[in-house]
Amino acid sequence: MVKAEQMYEGKAKKVFATDDPNICIVSYKDDATALDGLKKGTITGKGVINNRLTNHLMKLLEKEGVPTHFVEELNDRETAVKRVTIVPLEVIIRNVAAGSFSKRFGVEEGVVLKTPSLEFSYKNDDLHDPMINEYHIYALGLATKEEIATITNYAFKVNDFLKEYLLGFGIELIDFKLEFGKLPDGTIVLADEISPDTCRFWDAKTHEKLDKDRFRRDMGGVEDAYNEIMRRILGE
Ligand code: UDP
Repeated sequence: MVKAEQMYEGKAKKVFATDDPNICIVSYKDDATALDGLKKGTITGKGVINNRLTNHLMKLLEKEGVPTHFVEELNDRETAVKRVTIVPLEVIIRNVAAGSFSKRFGVEEGVVLKTPSLEFSYKNDDLHDPMINEYHIYALGLATKEEIATITNYAFKVNDFLKEYLLGFGIELIDFKLEFGKLPDGTIVLADEISPDTCRFWDAKTHEKLDKDRFRRDMGGVEDAYNEIMRRILGE
């Protein structure tokens, strides 16, 4: 596989074309943004951690019956993935109140939800990724009912698996964001990343935050938290 021209540069990753029209290469950066892009910084080593962790978890999820875009890890920062059309939705699952959920509904961070919740945001930077409901999604033609049923089913499957798996490493899965893509034949697959950038991870005993909230909230110990997650899950 030969790396070709850059197709896209996002906040945390670059995407390159390859000589195979069905394969792209994702390259993870150390750049971090928060607060709708207002806060910018670098988390040294983040790109390597997010790349390796995402691939590790996606391989496990494939075995659990969740199809993903993962093809092959090429090096510490780069991975070959299936070329997809991204469904322009952020799919957020929550087990414990935190962040925008706490603010919106006036629930203290750390309150365990009676049942896991799922919400969608419309991926649109100009509109600041507004929360969107299923009727809005169909009205705008962003996805079909069948696609949303598949995405919902996969998202809860990811939650069931990850929650249990991470608890084995003393990590509580508070909430996370997923993105899905469509293959040329219409198959829905899990895309993007699963990392401390996109999940809230708390130490199961102390409730210490081990994720990007340390960067968002200027708590310090950002790199240490990412390294700790990597060490617990990948053993290094
Ligand atoms: N999240 C994300 N990208 C976003 C927004 C949220 O990865 O653009 C993740 C975030 O890391 C957290 C979950 O989705 O694990 C829920 O985030 P929330 O809605 O509470 O937003 P925040 O408080 O981060 O603004």
